[in-house]
Amino acid sequence: MFPSPVPPGAGWPGDPATRHTPRARGREQVVTLAAAARTVDALDARISVCRACPRLVAWREQVARDKRAAYADQAYWGRPAPGFGDPAPRVLVVGLAPAAHGANRTGRVFTGDRSGDWLYAALHRAGYASQPSSTHAGDGMALEGLRIVAAVRCAPPGNQPSVDERATCAPWLDRDLSLAAPTLDAILALGGLAWDATLSAARRVGWQVPARKPRFGHGEVVRLGRPDGRGVRLVGSYHVSQQNTFTGRLTEPMLDAALALLIDDGDGDRPVRLAGGPVR
Ligand code: SF4
Repeated sequence: MFPSPVPPGAGWPGDPATRHTPRARGREQVVTLAAAARTVDALDARISVCRACPRLVAWREQVARDKRAAYADQAYWGRPAPGFGDPAPRVLVVGLAPAAHGANRTGRVFTGDRSGDWLYAALHRAGYASQPSSTHAGDGMALEGLRIVAAVRCAPPGNQPSVDERATCAPWLDRDLSLAAPTLDAILALGGLAWDATLSAARRVGWQVPARKPRFGHGEVVRLGRPDGRGVRLVGSYHVSQQNTFTGRLTEPMLDAALALLIDDGDGDRPVRLAGGPVR
């Protein structure tokens, strides 16, 4: 049994950090430590011990101590959720932030909650995920050619990170884009906030981004340009939140169709429209 929150290097499955991993305690340190991360493993380790946002650190640790009754007998991770998946991905999935009793409990993005059930089932159908569900950090799940990250790495109260918190966390996403760039073909943004965060990150790291901000929508596709001149397809999808999946705003066929757009079909990356998506 682990304490909650789980200390770095305590042996939690998939914990990328050790007791010696450097910790960011403010925005400037996030900038410095993210830029200096030479590998995905080093980046994930530094993310997983970050303490730069006082409100989010207090919240995530309080949730980890209090626990939901259904998980009272479990340890809670209670730390930022690092990226998960293939360190040399063709596809990057960008979410919003960990769920308080999902990734904040299990230590793995989209793991242990209904949103994750939807996402990993779709990734399994599309051939990226080794299993159709992701329940805990030691469940053997592996992703091939795909890595999942988030715009904000700590669970926020009410699922609402502040503007300041999003800005403080942004350098981690910038570095994820730069480290993934050599192999990356496409990015799936889950929701409008992830869409905006990805466009901003791409611009900051020197990618070509349309001068006029592309509008988010389910099934929208935008071509971004890597520094080496090759294109990266940014695909929008409604978020896999229960708010969307329970109401039918996002259906399984819609999510499968968005994942299919990650594969270049030679359409010139023009915006497309999916069944059930927005009309524009
Ligand atoms: Fe660090 Fe991001 Fe968590 Fe803020 S939200 S404490 S920057 S990992």
